[in-house]
Amino acid sequence: MDSLPGDLVQDEPIFAPEAFNLTPQQAELTARARRFGKAVLAPRAAAYDREARFPIENFRDMHGEGLLRICVPEEDGGEGADFTTYCLTAAELGRYCGATALSWNMHVCSTLWSGLLSEDLEMPEEERAAHRARRAKHYARIVQDGKIYSQPFSEGGAAAAGAIAFGTEARPVEGGYLINGKKIFASLSGSADYYGILCTERVGEEAASRRNTLYLAVPADAPGVSVVGDWDPLGMRGTVSRTLLLKDVFVPEDAMLMPRGVYFQAAGRWPHMFMTLTPTYMGLAQAAYDFTVSYLRGELPGMPPVKRRMFPTKQIAVAEMRIMLEQTKALWFQAIREARPDPTREQVQRAYAAQFTVMENANALAAKAIRTCGGQAMLKSLPLERIYRDSRCGSLMLPWTAEICLDRLGRDTLYKPGEKDD
Ligand SMILES: Cc1cc2nc3c(=O)[nH]c(=O)nc-3n(C[C@H](O)[C@H](O)[C@H](O)COP(=O)(O)OP(=O)(O)OC[C@H]3O[C@@H](n4cnc5c(N)ncnc54)[C@H](O)[C@@H]3O)c2cc1C
Repeated sequence: MDSLPGDLVQDEPIFAPEAFNLTPQQAELTARARRFGKAVLAPRAAAYDREARFPIENFRDMHGEGLLRICVPEEDGGEGADFTTYCLTAAELGRYCGATALSWNMHVCSTLWSGLLSEDLEMPEEERAAHRARRAKHYARIVQDGKIYSQPFSEGGAAAAGAIAFGTEARPVEGGYLINGKKIFASLSGSADYYGILCTERVGEEAASRRNTLYLAVPADAPGVSVVGDWDPLGMRGTVSRTLLLKDVFVPEDAMLMPRGVYFQAAGRWPHMFMTLTPTYMGLAQAAYDFTVSYLRGELPGMPPVKRRMFPTKQIAVAEMRIMLEQTKALWFQAIREARPDPTREQVQRAYAAQFTVMENANALAAKAIRTCGGQAMLKSLPLERIYRDSRCGSLMLPWTAEICLDRLGRDTLYKPGEKDD
């Protein structure tokens, strides 16, 4: 996009390139996301939320903007963004439409995990060559045709938290796999072209094991795939996360998004992979703050230009919000820059702390924004009440819910690996 419609004024970046030492690619992609978010996502966000409808028009436009291919490697026609660059860009989108940014994250992860992450992990050279050839087919669909991938792993049991093997199973058959199972909260259901299913490879009577997790791209129109149930949640309504049923669904071998055993390896060696839901909420935290500042200054579009900034209570509230926002940004920025294979224990603990902080503070900031701005600010004609509802969903996201982060941080701090109380 070269210019903005009308007199839309560009917002300040969440992470100013000079202050945060961003790379030229990070500066360019975040500016692109900000311009696109403000001009395209923000005006449409209320309707998707009201109707609990998937933002398919946004995804079509994101294809034109190059955003669907952000983490596809350059040699496959993508932008080649790394983990940090993706997170920074996603935060800018989350600022303008939480549901779009969150569901876009599911799509992007299918390319990030099969791309950059897999490159960091061990596999025999032949396997790597076969993986690169397979994933090139998925990438071509995204780059050329704007195909959309989703990432349903939740099943309503302990599997999504990483505690047990996925109940959805894939049995090897001639030329591929036969999949059976059920996924709940399958964002993009009914709109994605491919569902990136995490499931357990089962052979004979062998017990299900997390080591045998497979990551398979199931075409949405494959026989045996159905989407059931309604979707009328508190927030993130545009994600349309209905239930996905898989009944004897056949997929060929090249549906594999990661080679056998590599997802299990990634979950242990590349733990920051589970932080990719935070950028949306970092953006929502910024949006709650931005709203408050313009509201109190009497500058919010669509509102009478009444200033409320002269009251000391408002000034204190904004100062407190700014402090909370800066604390959130600083910790999150450090954590996303530490993402790598085999991080230290301290880095993993910081990642839990960052995940907890972003998810909880986004909602705390939105709640404070409503209290500070006052009654008119929570009307559905303004975005703040949507930000409040969307931000409430962040701490519920498995596998790193706010509770699980607390649980692991406390335990891992007090117990060294292998330590027990007699
Ligand atoms: C808007 C939205 C979109 C979503 N999109 C997707 C998606 O695209 N793909 C997808 O796979 N999932 C998605 N999810 C699902 C999400 O990641 C969780 O799986 C879901 O919210 C879990 O709900 P539950 O009631 O089954 O939680 P439960 O499993 O019943 O857990 C309830 C709480 O108990 C705690 N808990 C659970 N297990 C443990 C444990 N082992 N140790 C300690 N504490 C534990 C956690 O704090 C958790 O929040 C989405 C959720 C929402 C709200």
